[in-house]
Amino acid sequence: MKVLKFGGTSVGTADRIKHVAKLITSSGHNLVVLSAMAGTTNTLVEIADYCSKGNIPGAQDTLNNLLLKYQDVIGNLFDDGQSRDTANAVIAERFSYMRALIESDFSSADAREILAQGELMSTALMNIYLNSRGVKSTLLPALDYMRTDSFGEPDMKYIATRLRRLIELNRDADVFITQGYICTNDRGEIDNLKRGGSDYSASIIGAVIGADEIQIWTDIDGMHNNDPRFVNTTSPVSQLNFEEAAELAYFGAKILHPNCVLPAKLANIPVRLLNTLDPDAAGTVIYNMPPDRKIKAVAAKDNVTAIKIKSGRMLVAYGFLHKVFETFEKYQTSIDLMATSEVGVTVTIDDDSHLAALVDDLKHFGTVTVDRDMAIVSVVGDLEWHNCGFAAKAVCALQDVPVRLISYGGSDYNVSMLISSSDKVKALRLLSDALF
Ligand code: ADP
Ligand code: ASP
Ligand code: MG
Repeated sequence: MKVLKFGGTSVGTADRIKHVAKLITSSGHNLVVLSAMAGTTNTLVEIADYCSKGNIPGAQDTLNNLLLKYQDVIGNLFDDGQSRDTANAVIAERFSYMRALIESDFSSADAREILAQGELMSTALMNIYLNSRGVKSTLLPALDYMRTDSFGEPDMKYIATRLRRLIELNRDADVFITQGYICTNDRGEIDNLKRGGSDYSASIIGAVIGADEIQIWTDIDGMHNNDPRFVNTTSPVSQLNFEEAAELAYFGAKILHPNCVLPAKLANIPVRLLNTLDPDAAGTVIYNMPPDRKIKAVAAKDNVTAIKIKSGRMLVAYGFLHKVFETFEKYQTSIDLMATSEVGVTVTIDDDSHLAALVDDLKHFGTVTVDRDMAIVSVVGDLEWHNCGFAAKAVCALQDVPVRLISYGGSDYNVSMLISSSDKVKALRLLSDALF
């Protein structure tokens, strides 16, 4: 069995749903993971935001506009009246549930319930549509098996037991449909795997059922060698190993959720990135491939903050890094890049929610300087240190861009440079010209 995950744009209109239904039907007895229709989760976030600010009319107005969109999709999706009625009834129920949440005393748990409705609706529509075409598809409710533990990590044992049982109970189905992104948490509340988390759902599901392959279907023909939103001359990378894919996803290649690689890697299941709009394109396969002495791709991540701590007392410098790291741990802030010297250390973070307190504490150990609005550009591939000149090529490409920090040698797969966000696009283009 394969896991096929379709993202928001792949199911964003009635025509796209019909097209994906054809892909699903021709692919065999598989498990399909769906995101919410494109734009829905953003709108649900907006609705929850209005509620948290007490602007109930704002939330209602936005909800009503969203309902119009779904009614329009249903109108265009179904030819037969009975399926259309079923779909309208399901969607109406979801919207009255959201309306009740909006009008109640609003809590953060209510917000998460609202965010979950997008995937519940897209999967319901796909399931009804497949049934209306004579396909025996069965919904496997993610809220019945996908659960996170008290650390917010997927509870793999629970997920495996529950999901395998659900599949077994419904073994007559032609195809299974389930929701990406949504889960319950250790308190039994509805929760989610963070924005873009449907990829993560697909990988977790693939791992626990021992899938033959995990396919991530999106709106582009695989992982490109640079960010296609900023560079015109990108091309797809045919193969990556899990580590390279993880580095690219973490450092900004939006096509993959950063957490999605690990479950597939641990279970040694290949992940294939495919294009819904061009299903015959080869895409990218991510698997346990041996090193191939190639630089594969470049990615960039914004909203990075650099913190430099210059040691105050050089003669007792041992223990200095320990105290610095302990401070980051205290504020549950993880460090991305790091450069050290005898007299100081610079680290980067992307979560600056505790920045002021963190800096205050760090001042006990040295002089602290903060640079905001920075970006990390990462060059990813077979950057094992014996591959002489590979890292130099990347660094030289940025000779006209001020570079605040260089990180190389942390893994065999990456050289990362910290620059001003305002130089990001220029840097991505220079790297494309120099490397590909
Ligand atoms: P989905 O809704 O299917 O999950 P996403 O929008 O999350 O799709 O991811 C696909 C998008 O990722 C592409 O449209 C593209 O703009 C963007 N992207 C960013 N970097 C890359 C890259 N290196 N290769 C391919 N796509 C990328
Ligand atoms: N619908 C969710 C989001 O927009 C999850 C996903 O699309 O992967 O973030
Ligand atoms: Mg995505």
